[in-house]
Amino acid sequence: MKVNFDILIIGGGAAGFFAAAEAGRQNPKASIAILEASNKVLSKVLISGGGRCNVTNRISQPEELARNYPRGHDFLVEPFRQFSSDHTQRWFTERGVRLKTEADGRVFPVSNKSTCIANTFISEVEKYGVDVRLKSRVNKICFLENGWQIETGTETYFTEKLVICSGSNSAIWSLCKSLGLDVTEPVPSLFTLHAQHELIRDHAGISFPESWVKLQKGQSQSGPLLITHQGLSGPAILKLSAWEAIRFYNENYKATLRVNWVGRTKEDLRNAIKKCQADHPKKHVHNIPLFNLSKRFWKRVCEVAQIPEQRNYAEIGKKQVARFEELLCDCPVEIYGKSTFKEEFVTAGGINLNEINPTDFSAKRFKGLYFAGEVLNIDAITGGFNFQAAWTGGYLIGNHI
Ligand SMILES: Cc1cc2nc3c(=O)[nH]c(=O)nc-3n(C[C@H](O)[C@H](O)[C@H](O)COP(=O)(O)OP(=O)(O)OC[C@H]3O[C@@H](n4cnc5c(N)ncnc54)[C@H](O)[C@@H]3O)c2cc1C
Repeated sequence: MKVNFDILIIGGGAAGFFAAAEAGRQNPKASIAILEASNKVLSKVLISGGGRCNVTNRISQPEELARNYPRGHDFLVEPFRQFSSDHTQRWFTERGVRLKTEADGRVFPVSNKSTCIANTFISEVEKYGVDVRLKSRVNKICFLENGWQIETGTETYFTEKLVICSGSNSAIWSLCKSLGLDVTEPVPSLFTLHAQHELIRDHAGISFPESWVKLQKGQSQSGPLLITHQGLSGPAILKLSAWEAIRFYNENYKATLRVNWVGRTKEDLRNAIKKCQADHPKKHVHNIPLFNLSKRFWKRVCEVAQIPEQRNYAEIGKKQVARFEELLCDCPVEIYGKSTFKEEFVTAGGINLNEINPTDFSAKRFKGLYFAGEVLNIDAITGGFNFQAAWTGGYLIGNHI
C-alpha cells in the first residue's frame, strides 16, 4: 500500500528541516513528511562548529555573501536577495534563539550550544504536524505522470512534491543521475594540507596572523596560517582548499605552495632589515626576529638562511637578504596530501545548478521536484556560509512549493 503525503522531504538535516518548517508555516493544511535514513535527525547541526553551530555569517549583502561560495556564487545572488544571513538571524531570534556575532563575523547561539538550534527545528516541525520518519532510507525514486513514487526498504510513498535534501549522499546522487539529472562528481572541500619544508619541521603550533599562500599555477589566499604536526592549516589554507578543491583532487593533493609567512612584500622585508641595521647594528640577527615572528621560527629561518649565530645585523649582505626574501615572502613548500578539517568539512560537487531554478530551487526539467543543501553543487568556505546556503534553499522551497 502506498503512503501519500502532499510534500515529501528526503533527508532530516539542516536543509530538510528548514524546508519542512517553512512549507508547514505556509501550508498548514498540507501533509508533510521527512524521511531520514538514520535513527537521528540533524546530526551535522548538532556536531557543527565544534558543538556550537556556526549558523550563519555577519555578511548579508547578497553579492558579497555569494563571493564566499567557490561553487554557487553566481547562482546564489538572487536567492540571497530573498533570504540572506540577516533573514536567518531574524528567523532564529523570532523563535527565541539569541545569537551573537564573533569578531571574525561568524554567528553562533549565545548559549554556544547547537542543541538550541536543533530543538528549534524540532518544535517548529511539530507545530505544523510534520511526520518525521526515522530509519527510512530512500533507495528508489520513480518519476510518474502525476507525481513521485519513493521506496524505502519497508514502505512505498507517493507525493506530488518531492524535496531532496540528502546532503552529500552518493546513493541519492546515483538515483538522480539515473533520472537523467546532471551531477558533478563530488570531491572533498575544506581540508588541511600535509606539507614538508625545513621551516615547519617540529614547529607544530606556531601561527602567523597574516599570511599569503599561493598554489603554483593557481589561486592565492590570505589570512591566518598555522603549522600543524602534519603540515599547514588555518583560515588561509582552508580557503585555498575550498577554491582549489578540484585542482587539488585532480593532482592527487600533490603540489607546490608558495608561502609568504609574514604577509609583507619583499620591499617591506628589505626595509625592515635596513631598520634593524640602523637601530641595532651590533645585535645578533638570531636574537632579533623580524615582524614579531616567534623566536623559535625565526631561529630556524636564520639557520636555513645559513646565518651564523654570532652574525650581527650590520654584517648582513645582499645574498642573505635575498635568502630571507625567499624564505619569508616566497617560500616553496611541498604539499603531499591532505587531512580532514574536523570542525567543518563539506563536499564540492552535486546536482548541477543549471538544472535548478534560483527562484524556488525547483528542478527545471522535472515537475514537482526540488533540491536544497549540500546535495546541490554549492559549497562555501568556513564561517557559517554552508548552513546559510541550506537555510536559503529550504526557505525558498518552503515558500514556493
Ligand atoms: C563536523 C562538521 C561541522 C560543520 N560545522 C558547520 C558550521 O559550523 N557552519 C556551517 O555553516 N556549516 C558547517 N558544516 C557544514 C554543514 O553541516 C552542511 O553544509 C549542512 O549540514 C548541509 O545540510 P544538508 O541538509 O544539505 O545535509 P545534512 O545536514 O548532511 O543532512 C542530510 C540528511 O539526509 C539524510 N540522508 C542521506 N541519504 C538519505 C536517504 N537515502 N534517505 C533518507 N535520508 C537520507 C542524512 O542521514 C542526513 O540526515 C559542518 C560539517 C561538518 C561535517
